[in-house]
Amino acid sequence: MSESIEGLCRSCGLCCDGSLFDVVAVSAAEARVLEAHAVPVERAEGRFKLRQPCAGLQGTVCGCYAVRPEGCRRFVCLLAHARAAGEVSEAQAVALVAEARARLGRGESNASDFFRRYFSGR
Ligand code: SF4
Ligand code: SF4
Repeated sequence: MSESIEGLCRSCGLCCDGSLFDVVAVSAAEARVLEAHAVPVERAEGRFKLRQPCAGLQGTVCGCYAVRPEGCRRFVCLLAHARAAGEVSEAQAVALVAEARARLGRGESNASDFFRRYFSGR
């Protein structure tokens, strides 16, 4: 990866605020760590889920970044991959995040072609 995605992701937060996902599955150990950082985790039938919008999100930034669960660490959307590869500029990427928010605001599904193209995982 040639470009940092940190700036993009810190100004985005779509994968944490409920725009793309309803929940993140976490392990029991991760649930304990999150709750120790005042991020509540749901328990049902022996499974642990971090509900979105995530309580750990502060604006568009993860407030518990150092202890975020593996499911959060693993997810990098296609737009962020494209940014890391230098295929889109920071300004273009930020504009696409704004467009995503506008589309969701108009009631577009996060499973639409636009979201599959830019915001699905790889
Ligand atoms: S990985 Fe994608 S959706 Fe998540 S914060 Fe970064 S740019 Fe936004
Ligand atoms: S723990 Fe951090 S990275 Fe994971 S969903 Fe919550 S705010 Fe996002």
